[in-house]
Amino acid sequence: MRRKILVLGGGPCGLSAAWELAGQGCDVTVIEKDNKVGGLCVTHEYKGFRFDLGGHRFISKNKALVDRVRGIMGDELLIANRKSVILHKGKGFSYPLTIEDILFRMDLRQNLKIGVSYTRSLFYRWFFRGKEVSLEDWLINRFGRTLYRIFFGPYTEKLWGISPGRISSDWAPQRISLLHLGDVVLRLLRLKRGFLRTYTDKFWYPKYGIGQMFDAISGEITQMGGKVILSATVVGITVSGDFVNGVTYLHGGVKKSMGCDAIISTIPLPELVKAFPVERAGHSVQCAEALGFRAIRFLNILVDMPDISENTWMYVSERRYIMTRIQEPKRRSPYNAPEGKTSIMLEIPCNEDDAIWICSQEQLLGQCVADLKELGIDIKGRIIDCFITGVTHGYPVYGLDYEAHRSEILRFLSSYKNIITCGRQGAFQYVFMDRAMEMGMEAAMGLTSNIEQGITNVEG
Ligand SMILES: Cc1cc2nc3c(=O)[nH]c(=O)nc-3n(C[C@H](O)[C@H](O)[C@H](O)COP(=O)(O)OP(=O)(O)OC[C@H]3O[C@@H](n4cnc5c(N)ncnc54)[C@H](O)[C@@H]3O)c2cc1C
Repeated sequence: MRRKILVLGGGPCGLSAAWELAGQGCDVTVIEKDNKVGGLCVTHEYKGFRFDLGGHRFISKNKALVDRVRGIMGDELLIANRKSVILHKGKGFSYPLTIEDILFRMDLRQNLKIGVSYTRSLFYRWFFRGKEVSLEDWLINRFGRTLYRIFFGPYTEKLWGISPGRISSDWAPQRISLLHLGDVVLRLLRLKRGFLRTYTDKFWYPKYGIGQMFDAISGEITQMGGKVILSATVVGITVSGDFVNGVTYLHGGVKKSMGCDAIISTIPLPELVKAFPVERAGHSVQCAEALGFRAIRFLNILVDMPDISENTWMYVSERRYIMTRIQEPKRRSPYNAPEGKTSIMLEIPCNEDDAIWICSQEQLLGQCVADLKELGIDIKGRIIDCFITGVTHGYPVYGLDYEAHRSEILRFLSSYKNIITCGRQGAFQYVFMDRAMEMGMEAAMGLTSNIEQGITNVEG
């Protein structure tokens, strides 16, 4: 008998799980809250312009994964070049930071201060090896207090909305390679090579935006007999003993239920826990409340100019500017804007329901256009139109005690034999799309091998 497997969430992780399961002949159904698939990797089209939710690029060391994606995308998968800079105090610094830029583009006094504080931090790290609890400790230990105060501190605080002193140092190794001075020196001297996504200057990108890749995967799933239900929000998990045996979801305002033999969940970890019967979830519900996500609003501006710059994206480090990144989507694919025109997408981190999240499009546009002008990008009088998109679960926030809460929830979930939670939201891990896809495929393979060994709910 074919086992019925439900995949909760139709982002990269959930779709990859369903792709693998459908390929193995399972009876698979994806339940997705949004009205289209892709999760954070969705592309919105408007008046002939295309905008991702934050510019995405597909990069992976996993050749099998890349080949599989190329297999279904064919010529629709382009190779794009990355050029990106950090805008700081009216100057553009290369990204990743280079020693040349630090030496020749900052003034001598500042360089001396950076040098002294960097040496002091090296000395401290070698001789005292203090414990690195927070992201602030981690950054100061590696770059010194001066660079931290000038660049890393303000940028990090703008991105996360809390002081780096309150963010766990666990986050750093996943993102900070771009800023590791020792690493930069070794790579400049050609003494260190090897894959590092920060340094890759070429990437895969679909002709019509990153969402095209996930539309194609969704097409593969349905072609192999799988189902994808859109605009369906999972609200409940039903259980029997040590097994989950179904879900309830809201679809068109109606509460529906579906039975299953197993579940792969990629919806946010706190949401999953709260969907369990409260008497089962117990203390995990409190842990779920303690895990937070940073939201992002994206201001998408259609511009009547041929180009803005030659950069794929620009980081904006200073706190007085509202955005963290400025993206020009046609630098990823020329099909993202009509000929002779361009567009700008601004990433504006915020918290759900704060002043930025609720402010009107007019207010946001006014502030952004003024900020852009100060940053040397004057689009006044050239704006064709604009629209806002947003996500509530942009970044999982690694607070100082996040790991204790996360582990407690995972311990609770592991008491059920036929549910796996994975992906960026599902594992509460800051992973990129390639890793999310791998996680989904690994979960699917793990589940099917369990099925072979008979470790799933036989009642269905
Ligand atoms: C601004 C930004 C830029 C990024 N750039 C890159 C990049 O260049 N390269 C890269 O590799 N990665 C990038 N990423 C990361 C990438 O987007 C994620 O790694 C990837 O989307 C994670 O996939 P996922 O399926 O785990 O989660 P998601 O994409 O978040 O998918 C989860 C899905 O679950 C659905 N869902 C949630 N709750 C429910 C519910 N109750 N019921 C049903 N469905 C539900 C959501 O609607 C969503 O579709 C970026 C992320 C951001 C925020």
